[in-house]
Amino acid sequence: MDRHLDNTGWAQRRRAATSLGVGVATDIYPVRARNAEVWDGEGRRYIDFAAGIAVLNTGHLHPRVQAAAHAQLDRFSHTCYQVLPYAGYVELAERLNALAPIAGPAKSLFVTTGAEAVENAVKIARAATGRPGIISFNGGFHGRTNLAMALTGKVAPYKIGFGPYAGGVYHASYPNALHGVSSADALASVEALFKYDVAASEVAAILIEPVQGEGGFVPAPADFMRALRALCDTHGILLIADEIQTGFARTGTLFAMQGYDVKPDLMCIAKSLAGGFPLSGVVGRAELMDAPVVGGLGGTYGGNPVAIAAALAVLDVIEEENLCVRAQAIGERIKARLTALRARVPQIADIRGPGAMVAVEFLDAGVAAPAFLARVRSRAQELGLILLSCGVYGNVIRFLCPLTIEDTVLDEALDILERSLLEAAA
Ligand code: PMP
Repeated sequence: MDRHLDNTGWAQRRRAATSLGVGVATDIYPVRARNAEVWDGEGRRYIDFAAGIAVLNTGHLHPRVQAAAHAQLDRFSHTCYQVLPYAGYVELAERLNALAPIAGPAKSLFVTTGAEAVENAVKIARAATGRPGIISFNGGFHGRTNLAMALTGKVAPYKIGFGPYAGGVYHASYPNALHGVSSADALASVEALFKYDVAASEVAAILIEPVQGEGGFVPAPADFMRALRALCDTHGILLIADEIQTGFARTGTLFAMQGYDVKPDLMCIAKSLAGGFPLSGVVGRAELMDAPVVGGLGGTYGGNPVAIAAALAVLDVIEEENLCVRAQAIGERIKARLTALRARVPQIADIRGPGAMVAVEFLDAGVAAPAFLARVRSRAQELGLILLSCGVYGNVIRFLCPLTIEDTVLDEALDILERSLLEAAA
């Protein structure tokens, strides 16, 4: 075998040459990918249910997205929007402003990573309210940069050894019925912060993932979201939805907040926005988005033209291929297969999630079962299916297949999943 193509060789070189602080889930080194399939240098094919961690709702190299990026690359690749602004940035903002579930006129800004979108949303909220405090939730994930890390509600591995954390951040409980936290408990924990930690009048925003992603694909109940909105309105606090993992048709609507009867003031977007190119953004109420001082927002690479061109194509694909409807169908198919296995796989404790943002949680005699998950995952990988875990206890498999996946490939993946679950349970 050509040593340049061999996974084991690359794994050794990776460990010798790159920071071990970057956790790597597999030692599969792809040479080619298309829609829901990936091929490594050893000629093995995998079905990709990780999709670059929720980035590829439109699949690897969707022909429309690829062509749009190519065409932009033939025109120019970078000018810096702050020096020579370009039409695509404005056009993408116009389209997202019209699509996002924001009350009244909306505006957008574009940056590069999810963490950066979160940091910018916090800056906008602080500038708009003149208040310092931000409340986020236990189990939430908002990124690895300094402020995003502080907002993240999970210590291992994200915060160990990296303190002190940015100030003005407070954590409340996120509702999770399976683990004994009701909506009323979670709401009471926010009220308790106002009593013991920070005055409500000093809080700029509450930041929430409508469905916790890294935290275990845990949807916030509708009554909780409604109560949170009411609490924000009472105290003049802004509601920020982190839609970085939930966005772009994954949950069966373009944004997860469209599944609720309340609207956020600001939204963070990234991941599947640009189909594999680094692009993120904040969409929010126009008067809030204009609150920061001129020059206070931006960045050299923010809103890269190639990524913007890809994003415009992603929006076309979602619309033309009806990916919101497709997400519902995919989710139902995955859930039906898992539900049928419950009797034979007693570790399946919960099957949940809106649209195709589906997860299965494993418990063994009522206790989180990460070792069971590890067996399922490694067997699935041997059989050619890439799975990702999540959850505060590492006992949840999240399904993130492209929404463009062919039915035959989806069924093949579900056959592998079924076999892996049955073998692990035996
Ligand atoms: N917020 C959420 C909800 C996320 O899922 C992620 C990434 N997993 C982030 C923020 C951070 O995004 P990035 O890794 O691009 O900084």
